Amino acid sequence: FTQKPQSQESTDETKPLPKGVVLDKDGKPCRTCTSVSSWRALTKQSQSQSKPDNSTSPLSSPTDKMTTSTTPLAAPASASEPTTPPDCPPDVEQLGRSTWTLLHSMAATYPEKADSQQQNDMQGFLKFFSKLYPCWVCADDFQNWMAHPSGRNKPQLGGRKEFGWWMCEAHNEVNRKLGKKEFDCRFWEERWRTGWKD
Ligand code: FAD
Repeated sequence: FTQKPQSQESTDETKPLPKGVVLDKDGKPCRTCTSVSSWRALTKQSQSQSKPDNSTSPLSSPTDKMTTSTTPLAAPASASEPTTPPDCPPDVEQLGRSTWTLLHSMAATYPEKADSQQQNDMQGFLKFFSKLYPCWVCADDFQNWMAHPSGRNKPQLGGRKEFGWWMCEAHNEVNRKLGKKEFDCRFWEERWRTGWKD
């Protein structure tokens, strides 16, 4: 993971950001890059810093765009950890789950054999997706993974089977980074297209 930890220096006015809070490129906390538990810790912290002049508060001051945590951004969820309420903006995990559902479903409905137009369309989608994904640190890593100089991670767009497998490997790359269990890609179609046999 490429990000470096933010300086932990503390002044009289500011405390270091809670572990796991990722800053956006404008220096403000990035909700879609941060887990809900870290976000809650940040909210509590900023409530306890009730100075009227908040120009040095962690919500506005950091110039270093990086996070206070090292990898992973999202620790594995446990029963005692909070989850995002359904009517609130997504955290990094909820956004991720919804996005993987979209991506694997796109692979599941991709043509068995894709013509050049279909391949170009998907190539274009992946190019813009990997630039515009709302968790920017996730997006940066994903782009770098796809653009590996050896070419080994280039999207495989010839048809459904190879594209589904490629997407599974892309997801496993993130699983590994986050310390999650890898998925056995032989079963991606059961998981995302056909359903499991009884
Ligand atoms: P998810 O990983 O969201 O998986 C959802 C379901 O997909 C699983 O329940 C399982 O049934 C199935 N599945 C799991 N692995 C595979 C696979 N390899 N192939 C097919 N199906 C599979 N979060 C961060 O904290 N840091 C990051 O840098 C980061 N980068 C991301 C980059 C991208 C492009 C995306 C889409 C998400 C990223 N996320 C990142 C979010 C992260 O991947 C998870 O979505 C999030 O942590 C929630 O994980 P989860 O355990 O609920 O299941």
